[in-house]
Amino acid sequence: MSLFSPPLKQSRKAELLQEIARLKHEQNAVILAHVYERLEVQDFADFRGDSLGLSRQAAATEADAIVFCGVHFMAETAKLLSPQKTVYLANPHAGCPMADMITAEQLRSFKAEHPDVPVVAYVNTSADVKAESDICCTSANAVDVVRSLNVDKVLFVPDKHLGAYVQSKLPDVDIICWDGFCPTHLRIDLDDLKTLQAKHPNALTLVHPECDEAVKDVADYIGSTTGILEQANVCHAHEFIICTEDGVAQRLIQDFPHKSFYTPSRQQALCPNMKMTRLENVAKALRGDVEEIQIPADVFEKARLTLDRMLAVPITEAEAGQGSAACRCKTTPSPILSLVSV
Ligand code: SF4
Repeated sequence: MSLFSPPLKQSRKAELLQEIARLKHEQNAVILAHVYERLEVQDFADFRGDSLGLSRQAAATEADAIVFCGVHFMAETAKLLSPQKTVYLANPHAGCPMADMITAEQLRSFKAEHPDVPVVAYVNTSADVKAESDICCTSANAVDVVRSLNVDKVLFVPDKHLGAYVQSKLPDVDIICWDGFCPTHLRIDLDDLKTLQAKHPNALTLVHPECDEAVKDVADYIGSTTGILEQANVCHAHEFIICTEDGVAQRLIQDFPHKSFYTPSRQQALCPNMKMTRLENVAKALRGDVEEIQIPADVFEKARLTLDRMLAVPITEAEAGQGSAACRCKTTPSPILSLVSV
């Protein structure tokens, strides 16, 4: 299906929304949508936000079933945190190319090359890879997680750009990165960005750490998806250049019409996998027409442990959504807002 396929006809949309509401009630289901998803999908979700935040929110509910509008590793994470719930990935074909850049077998070889070095796995990995790792991290807490290990060397998988960011913050730790990357974040081009910055000199540049180092070097703020949403919300500035998947800018344009948001590669930093889910997929999942997420018991136990170890790392400002670098507008961030919960 094309990324730019036309929106549903109003009558079909109304029909689907009605069916989804009925099935959701019958199944006591909760619908989660990552902010990179199409707005039509985000708009009817119970929660929208980033992958770990969504899984934690769903785990805290009394729902019996979860429909995750996102990619495969996200639905697995939801299952790891909600083992008693039935979890569906709305579109089972939606995978993450970066997560697929490392398998459990490849990780075992990587570990064999570096014996006794702990493995930090970005949450954007399969349950199999998590099970082979020592601890997970997110883009918000990666620095804190690595610091918490109190070691002089770690293996970091799969994103070498997030790993490089952690390295820049922890120069005394040798971060040995897997050669993985997010193809979508790497579409953000430095020259495009500089042109946009010159055109909008008052705009603050908010960058996700999965971007290339050259792009991060000219950022005013580097932080997770949630961190970027928070900064755009709390900063006094009125103009922002958003360097992450373009869905975040679309979300911000809708939520903050009095502010201006620009993207350096409009229509290009779109993750095709995150746009695969349509209302039809959600209805199909709720009808039980897709396989539920299953994780073998031995993998489950080990993968859950890596998540639990991460969750035990004390929450810092970064994890609270303020990113790891102060925004140059020096706004004192307000307490966490309900931006990502709807
Ligand atoms: S944006 Fe990148 S990391 Fe996120 S799902 Fe797409 S490919 Fe994976």
